[in-house]
Amino acid sequence: MTKAVPADILSRLKAVLGDGGWSQDPERLAPKLLEWRDRWTGTTPFLALPKTTADVAAVVGVCFEAGVAITPQGGNTGLVGGQIPQGEILLSTERLGAIREVETFDDVIVAEAGVTLARVHEAAAAVRRRFPLGLASEGTATVGGVVSTNAGGTQVLRYGSTRSLVLGLEAVLPNGEVWNGLKHLRKDNTGYDLKQLLIGAEGTLGVVTAASLKLYPVLASRAVAMAGVPSPQAALHLLEQAKAEAGGAVEAFELMGRQGVDFALKNIPGTRDPLEEVHPWYVLAEFSSGEPGSAEAAMERFLTHGLEAGLIADAVVAQTDAQAKALWLIRENQSPAQKPEGATWKHDVSVPVSRVADFLDQATAAMLAFAPGSRIAGFGHMGDGNIHYDVLRPDGGDDAAHAARRDEGSRIVHDIVMSMGGSISAEHGLGSMKTAEAARYKSPVELHALKAIRAALDPKRIMNPRVLF
Ligand SMILES: Cc1cc2nc3c(=O)[nH]c(=O)nc-3n(C[C@H](O)[C@H](O)[C@H](O)COP(=O)(O)OP(=O)(O)OC[C@H]3O[C@@H](n4cnc5c(N)ncnc54)[C@H](O)[C@@H]3O)c2cc1C
Repeated sequence: MTKAVPADILSRLKAVLGDGGWSQDPERLAPKLLEWRDRWTGTTPFLALPKTTADVAAVVGVCFEAGVAITPQGGNTGLVGGQIPQGEILLSTERLGAIREVETFDDVIVAEAGVTLARVHEAAAAVRRRFPLGLASEGTATVGGVVSTNAGGTQVLRYGSTRSLVLGLEAVLPNGEVWNGLKHLRKDNTGYDLKQLLIGAEGTLGVVTAASLKLYPVLASRAVAMAGVPSPQAALHLLEQAKAEAGGAVEAFELMGRQGVDFALKNIPGTRDPLEEVHPWYVLAEFSSGEPGSAEAAMERFLTHGLEAGLIADAVVAQTDAQAKALWLIRENQSPAQKPEGATWKHDVSVPVSRVADFLDQATAAMLAFAPGSRIAGFGHMGDGNIHYDVLRPDGGDDAAHAARRDEGSRIVHDIVMSMGGSISAEHGLGSMKTAEAARYKSPVELHALKAIRAALDPKRIMNPRVLF
């Protein structure tokens, strides 16, 4: 727990923010102190609600001078607890809500930190562009949040994670100074790249107040299909074929185990079994192209070859947008569908794409030996080697007993991941949940360099002090 904030500092913060710019009302604070999985609850003496970059700078400046800690928060959809304060000042970006600029020659949108990802998509669509970052949380997740977690999502295979979609940033550094780096440039080789340090920094190197984001042309054709496959190994071969058939047009290539599909069918209204028969694994593939008809033709070739090669047992191609949405509904709800099923050990891991099947085999054998009867929902972004590997308590089992073994179980999974040259956090970050675990796996050389970066920018360690190194 972070140390108490002196009353005179709270008075100064109230003065700089003015009426409507702060709250201490428990009802107003409550939803910001509970994270999405109900795993962390927080406390804070003060919610700062800055409306401008200057307000943010004033808050951070007062806190820096007094050595008072701050936790920034955007949409509160983060899954590793980084945005939930434990006694720090909570700085919400909810009022930093302007889209400052949309420039189609540069193909750039400049949005403030509190703008949701869904609003960025709408603003891009209004000028016949798109911003290719898709998350199931996009209605609530914010620009500041996706930048600070370097969010991934379903289109990383083609466009990269947030890191490759940001052209510039504006941020308030931990000493309260404003850095305006809101460039529109695609090329800028002028030494250390400060924006890349802030991307994925999880609020530890300052508050991101706005970002310039890359836009892409809208597409002329799109094809979405779900295939039942016998194994992750078959899915790996299919991924290779998809790339060969569709060239750069593979927009998403997702893998789901039947257990997770069953959870979705049981717990998510509006879902239905995608294929007539039950299959152990499913691939959800999306192709898209600027050329009319080309994505559909590539999908047809891909499925035909997959069926002929025995890699696909059965498949369905969406004929309408509504059907495509229904297929995606199953995938996007893999995580929400687990909520009613009780305690889970969640893992957001990545391994080289070539090792995904190996990882699933080894981890599942290890988990069934360690926690017999546990229900395993493995799903994720196969094309990026990113698997969400979730181990749920046995049906009818005891939540507390399962939760009590989480750290031990997760250590087994993480050791397997690391033995394959993988990462224990593929896209969600480290937050409060995985900081200590990550420190175990990083070399002393890397840890030393990372700590030096933080100490240089945040010498009083006031920004999200619980998080990172
Ligand atoms: C249903 C669901 C599906 C999801 N799917 C994906 C997925 O596919 N891929 C993926 O990568 N993530 C996914 N997530 C996780 C989450 O949506 C992302 O991490 C998202 O980027 C968080 O954005 P946010 O605005 O909610 O940030 P928050 O949760 O508010 O904060 C996350 C972190 O960023 C920091 N932060 C927030 N705003 C700022 C700022 N302006 N300046 C500095 N630091 C800041 C916080 O301190 C915290 O450490 C999913 C979450 C849910 C609930």
